Amino acid sequence: MSAQPDKTSASAPSASERAAASKSAAQRHIPSRDFLTTVNDDGSRYFLHPADVHGRFTRIRRVVGLVLIAIYLLLPWIPINGYPAVFLDLAERRFHFFGFTLAAQDAWLIFFGLTGVGFGLFFVTAMLGRVWCGYACPQTVFLERIYRRIERMIEGDGPARRLLDAAPMSPAKFAKRVAKHALYILTSLAITHLFLAYFVSIPEVWHMMQAAPGEHWAAFLFVFIAAGVLYFNFAWFREQLCIVICPYGRMQSALTDDHTTTIGYDAKRGEPRGKLGTPDAGSCIACNRCVQVCPTGIDIRHASLQLECIGCAACIDACDDMMTKVKRPTGLIRYDSLMGFSGAKARLLRPRTIIYLILFVIGVAVSSFALSTIKPATFMVMRMTGAPYFVDPVDVRNQFMVRLINKRGEPTAFRVTVEGLPAGVTQSGLTGLVTVAPMAEQVSPLILQVKRGDYAGPFKATVVVEDEQRSFRLARPVEFLGPDARLLKQ
Ligand code: SF4
Ligand code: SF4
Repeated sequence: MSAQPDKTSASAPSASERAAASKSAAQRHIPSRDFLTTVNDDGSRYFLHPADVHGRFTRIRRVVGLVLIAIYLLLPWIPINGYPAVFLDLAERRFHFFGFTLAAQDAWLIFFGLTGVGFGLFFVTAMLGRVWCGYACPQTVFLERIYRRIERMIEGDGPARRLLDAAPMSPAKFAKRVAKHALYILTSLAITHLFLAYFVSIPEVWHMMQAAPGEHWAAFLFVFIAAGVLYFNFAWFREQLCIVICPYGRMQSALTDDHTTTIGYDAKRGEPRGKLGTPDAGSCIACNRCVQVCPTGIDIRHASLQLECIGCAACIDACDDMMTKVKRPTGLIRYDSLMGFSGAKARLLRPRTIIYLILFVIGVAVSSFALSTIKPATFMVMRMTGAPYFVDPVDVRNQFMVRLINKRGEPTAFRVTVEGLPAGVTQSGLTGLVTVAPMAEQVSPLILQVKRGDYAGPFKATVVVEDEQRSFRLARPVEFLGPDARLLKQ
């Protein structure tokens, strides 16, 4: 019997095996500014297994990530004004946001809201670099807080996973792979079902889950495809999405400048790097921990901003830990601006931060104002198809269709009147109170007519819609068309 440990067994690797795995991986893929660490020389994918890291920024990221996941899980369950807190009801073309209900006609508001959020993100990036990517992006949050946790639970820490990758297939390795991917698929399905609940509500998702796929084939197809995309992304694609697909990552160099606070390495203090005890060496002890923990496989010690850096701060925690162990001041890798690293003072207020902030405030102010002016109903007046007006031996008549939309979650009685009518013009069809069901619409005819003898020619008037209590007032102009009055009097 061999005394050698079986590298394919399910037991945890020894400390020496972990060190060897880390070393060999580091030697094979030393990060460079000239190529992607995650792409092998032959163009194939090099799969990263970042080492575990502990520290204050890792704790903050963990808390932020778990809070964001909790919000994502809970929002469809929290009822506000009879609807889930966020409910994008596509079937009814209604959008419910924390008690506000927007009809499809109010969708223009989303433009200002998204514009404000976009410039808010620009402002945060100009101030703090890719803090969004590192702490709050769903890609990072779901990968680090869920999928990487599953992987670590089944296959062990970074060095253990690298060993498992390199080992030939065995029953133990096969069992771990099957368990990991089964959990990935179940997790992807759970996330996707919850995502569907944002569009159809939790009870409806539950109802669909109990029915045959053919009864809700569109929803079934959506869940199937979306879960497949999630599985592909989080099981395999991972950091490649940040590096090669995400447009926000591409824009960072345009949004940041030398005054932006990003994560960097203090080369003045760290170089020349050298192992502990090396004469005249700087503070960097060349332990490579900052590289081993990096989820995108880069070396933060390379000069300037790197496209692949997602601002996760794992390298700060890793380096601070090493500095503490060797009793040197922490902060060799830290949040600072390029100005700060060069010894100069960074400015918070620059033209770009001021412009982004102003555009953010405008976007938020416009969408907030527009939201506050949204009425619980809307209506449209359309001339009926056919002739623009009718003249018979008695009357001159114009016929319209009025489309009333009740955006309230309860039946509402509307009063429709026409203001500015000349003497002798009467309103018929739509008179008195019209009750419209909750979140429904009703189309009714509105007829304006005048006796030939009273007719004085075309005129303009205003259709007014109010509720019974006159808590709001909506108005639309209409034009009464007809022939020249002199022709009727001949
Ligand atoms: S360089 Fe540091 S901050 Fe950037 S992605 Fe790597 S570990 Fe995270
Ligand atoms: S973790 Fe710190 S000390 Fe270690 S190699 Fe990176 S910068 Fe140098």
